[in-house]
Amino acid sequence: GKEDAKNKEYKVGVDTTYPPFEFEENGKQKGIDIDLITEIAKKEGFKIKLEPMDFKGIIPALQANELDIAIAGMSITEERKKVVDFSDPYFKAGLTLVVAKNNNNITTPDDLKGKTIAVKKGTTGAKFAEDLAKKKNAKVVQFNDSPSMFQEVANGNADVLIEDYPVVAYAIAQKDLGLKIVGDRLNGDQYGIAVLKGENEEVLKKINKGLKDLKKSGKYDEIVKKYLKE
Ligand code: GLN
Repeated sequence: GKEDAKNKEYKVGVDTTYPPFEFEENGKQKGIDIDLITEIAKKEGFKIKLEPMDFKGIIPALQANELDIAIAGMSITEERKKVVDFSDPYFKAGLTLVVAKNNNNITTPDDLKGKTIAVKKGTTGAKFAEDLAKKKNAKVVQFNDSPSMFQEVANGNADVLIEDYPVVAYAIAQKDLGLKIVGDRLNGDQYGIAVLKGENEEVLKKINKGLKDLKKSGKYDEIVKKYLKE
């Protein structure tokens, strides 16, 4: 926008619950994404207001001008680039298959013939599952948030789920969910911070500058290590 960035409060869309990138603890939003955007805003001199929402609503909210920025473990894709501009990549993730601990017959996408795949609406995992389902005659069931999707596989209603590797690895390390990661990563998805396409060069420039400075100063590594101990 044309407004002076100093006086503007940017509305930042974040996923409701996507640890270690964003989650609520004692009524406060925390996580790698939250710390990154907070530090970038501090360094580049703009104000932010966090707006947690279901992931599927984030890009539509940018398009409706209800959000200015989105940081939500959002993968940079060619399809999304038609409607948003992304910052430089800030985290390498990638999708993985996840099954119930006692399931020993799924390790690759080839094993999904006739299976039920749980996904989260609007994600790259959902897109991957839909493409695969056509080829393998599999069924896709959609959820609004990651915990509901995890639950569906843990309780045996779905055979497998597709989620970002670092997110599900973190969840399993925190707590026994009755789930396990199988096979190799399915792709090399990288996260970017998004703004509405063609209208936010000024803030995007600040975001990229802030990211670069956080990497140079070691603050980026410090933030990531705070949540991912190893
Ligand atoms: N990285 C995935 C995507 O961009 C999932 C993001 C999420 O669930 N918050 O679609």
